Amino acid sequence: MNTSLKRIGALVLLALAAAGCPPSGTQVADAPAPRENAPRHLDAPYVVLVSFDGFRYDYPELHEAPNFLRVAREGARAERMIPIFPTKTFPNHYTIATGMYAEHHGLVGNRFWDPDRRALYRIDDRSVVEDGSWYRGEPIWVTAERQGMLAASFYFVGSEADVGGIRPTYWKRYDGSVPNEVRVDTVLAWLRLPPARRPHMITLYFSETDDAGHRYGPRSPELAAAVRRVDAQLGRLLEGIDALPHGHQVTVVLVSDHGMMRAPADDVDVYDPALFPGVRLIESGPYASLVVDEGGAERARAVRDSLRALMPANGVYLREEVPERLHYRSDPRIGDIVIVAAPGRTVVTPDRVPGRDTFTHGWDNAVREMGAIFMARGPRIRPGARAGPFESIHVYPFLAELLGLEANPAADGRLDVLAPLLRD
Ligand code: AMP
Ligand code: ZN
Ligand code: ZN
Repeated sequence: MNTSLKRIGALVLLALAAAGCPPSGTQVADAPAPRENAPRHLDAPYVVLVSFDGFRYDYPELHEAPNFLRVAREGARAERMIPIFPTKTFPNHYTIATGMYAEHHGLVGNRFWDPDRRALYRIDDRSVVEDGSWYRGEPIWVTAERQGMLAASFYFVGSEADVGGIRPTYWKRYDGSVPNEVRVDTVLAWLRLPPARRPHMITLYFSETDDAGHRYGPRSPELAAAVRRVDAQLGRLLEGIDALPHGHQVTVVLVSDHGMMRAPADDVDVYDPALFPGVRLIESGPYASLVVDEGGAERARAVRDSLRALMPANGVYLREEVPERLHYRSDPRIGDIVIVAAPGRTVVTPDRVPGRDTFTHGWDNAVREMGAIFMARGPRIRPGARAGPFESIHVYPFLAELLGLEANPAADGRLDVLAPLLRD
């Protein structure tokens, strides 16, 4: 075989390995060996981080979720995990993964405009979602891989991108139609790999409770059924872990990205783009982001003043005026003007005025209904440990500690916040 053919063969194998497919078929000369854990990690613990999208902090009791309650009983639980602002899926998942506020990790919304790149980030555009150059910070799976520990992801925001040039050893391209059961079975299969190739840091993600929450609301029978279905999958995961010879080395960490709340049809503020030429509305709803393309800082102030008069219940800020506690100022991707709608209110364009109440999220992270879950069970977790409300930036250093990894020192989160949940 000539060298260029060999190189192509090796590249194909590399691509397969990166896609989470073990190389298969006949031997190819000098094929790269599959990635393996550095010898010092072979006895390291395992962490499975499971995210349930839009799973509000009070759902386990509200809808009787026995397996969630079991994790809380056998391990630790926070009264409520406080998401970051904006309380949307992408910014919050990436905060849990990196320990950073959105203004530091760069995913400032599910949609945002980057003025330097002059390009739009949107969660339904694969070309940006999988492009690592949009992402800052160091997700926990990159922390692991950089330190010679294998990671795997059955979905998690950021895991499909080459952040700092690195993806988890095993990863999946997001496809919401993959049954939850398949996701659980794949994670269990990863945990049964031989030790050298077995990932220690694993993520798993379910969108079902967010979908049902948006469609039917947090107190609906449909949402209750969705909670019961993901609870059953959690039960399968726990059973599978407990059946492993090394099951006692596995910590399960349950999180969500935000809660869910009713937006009454009457509590709507209409933003009419025709009234604001040269201004682009990038995101709307419980919060809004505007880019002022014409007229500079003076125009931005004038637009802010008009909006304040138009929608007096809402917070309307120039980027540099956003309340400090929201940690949402320093990145130009945030936009020139930010509207933080009053709880329950939404900002909509004239063509999108809702005919009935809707259910959503995105408001100020201090709003109780935006609260998320946090639970953990494993060898280093104190059974019955309880924590008060805490900010989700603190999950990353906790995961790094559980795995015996050095956390990224640039993270905003601190280990001392969740350290009381650990055994001495
Ligand atoms: P949100 O309304 O902010 O909660 O957005 C939730 C939606 O994000 C879910 O319905 C998912 O379909 C979608 N989503 C979650 N993870 C990913 C991903 N990795 N890539 C693309 N879309 C995703
Ligand atoms: Zn979400
Ligand atoms: Zn949602």
